[in-house]
Amino acid sequence: MAVKVLVIGGGTGGTLAANLLAKEFAVEIADNDIQVALVTGSKFHVFQPGLLEVAFEGKAPDTIVREERPLVNRKVAYTEERVERIDLRKQEVLLASGQSLDYDYVIIATGSVPNPDSIPRLREASLNFHTSTDESLRIWHTLKQFEKGRVVVGIAGVPHKCPPSPNEATFLLDDYLRKTGKREHVSLTFLTPYPRPYPAEPLSKVVEPLLEKRGIEVVTFFNLESVDPRKKELYSLEGDTIGYDLLIMVPPHQGADVIVKSGLGDRDGWIPTDKQTLRINGYENAYAIGDCTNIPVSKTGVTAHLEAKVAVNNIVSSIKELGKLHKYTGRINCPFEVGSGKAAFVVGSYEMPVKQIEPTRMRQLMKKGFERVYWRSLSGSLDWLLDRYFGETDTTENMS
Ligand SMILES: Cc1cc2nc3c(=O)[nH]c(=O)nc-3n(C[C@H](O)[C@H](O)[C@H](O)COP(=O)(O)OP(=O)(O)OC[C@H]3O[C@@H](n4cnc5c(N)ncnc54)[C@H](O)[C@@H]3O)c2cc1C
Repeated sequence: MAVKVLVIGGGTGGTLAANLLAKEFAVEIADNDIQVALVTGSKFHVFQPGLLEVAFEGKAPDTIVREERPLVNRKVAYTEERVERIDLRKQEVLLASGQSLDYDYVIIATGSVPNPDSIPRLREASLNFHTSTDESLRIWHTLKQFEKGRVVVGIAGVPHKCPPSPNEATFLLDDYLRKTGKREHVSLTFLTPYPRPYPAEPLSKVVEPLLEKRGIEVVTFFNLESVDPRKKELYSLEGDTIGYDLLIMVPPHQGADVIVKSGLGDRDGWIPTDKQTLRINGYENAYAIGDCTNIPVSKTGVTAHLEAKVAVNNIVSSIKELGKLHKYTGRINCPFEVGSGKAAFVVGSYEMPVKQIEPTRMRQLMKKGFERVYWRSLSGSLDWLLDRYFGETDTTENMS
């Protein structure tokens, strides 16, 4: 009987994990000793950082979307269907069609989803650039019509993926308003529940003077409780009220439906996961990677990429009885666009607090360059290059 390794979710982490497993076990798959399978709910794969450009720079949505199937190694048994339930005890997943798949090892990579309904009337009141290309396009079309008034951009609740993205959106919007000559008729407010413009202080020190220089008002400690779309007002838990003409908020996120329905997550649907081995608590053969975990690191594509490698290495070690335990170091490395063609980076790990990195043109070019290599990075073939850039991302321990 072949050993079955199943990956659930064909996004940044799951696609890479399936491709790395297919490469690692190429011979065993050909000999029918191992089967690597990927099941994913969507025909399309979105390069999510591009959602910002669709929303604030008018980039064509189809340039950031590809079909998932061609991104996946041919040796992977590919199923395009929603998973309805995951049973870690029975080692079985139930698909929407009623078919079930069993496994010996599983990697869950089902991501995170914005949940605007968790705040009364946020969905109808606000636009957001975290959901889909269509939602991002709505922002672009709205901006083109918008001539004057108060725009409020911000964080409606935490956690959410890509921590820099609300700040990035504000800077890109400011760029757009300046380029189109509308800025003097528009007041721009950045709203956050945190005590400072960016949660990590070293980077907040970088961001704060830039916001000030651009005349962007910052409202901190604003924990959004509800919205009144008719009055165009936001209300905070602290009892404050803020008016707006146009509202663009990042909703609080939660784990995928299937995690909630399967009872695998905490209250918000995050899977309790060992922050180093990436094993789901209580299971030796089940791993969670990327946005879907409860690990205390930023939910970013780079995190998902680095975690995919650790989970795959641990499965390989277990199947080949190599006696090694690989550990994720908590490394994060996320670009942070600050407008005017410049970007900083959010770099840190479990051992290393986030650094203060100044924005430069070169860093923005690196961010733009990554767009081009993203699709190839999903095959794992660029890791020789990315490893140099990310530095030490995986530590290994001998188990005996
Ligand atoms: C605006 C924006 C900007 C960003 N910028 C950056 C950036 O600059 N750098 C960076 O590193 N990260 C960035 N990110 C974050 C990054 O895109 C995510 O953190 C990353 O995609 C997470 O990868 P993942 O594999 O965990 O989840 P995803 O890539 O979201 O994939 C989840 C997959 O699971 C599938 N799935 C879910 N439920 C089911 C089910 N029931 N059955 C089957 N399949 C299912 C989905 O269809 C999807 O294919 C950004 C995100 C946004 C929104």
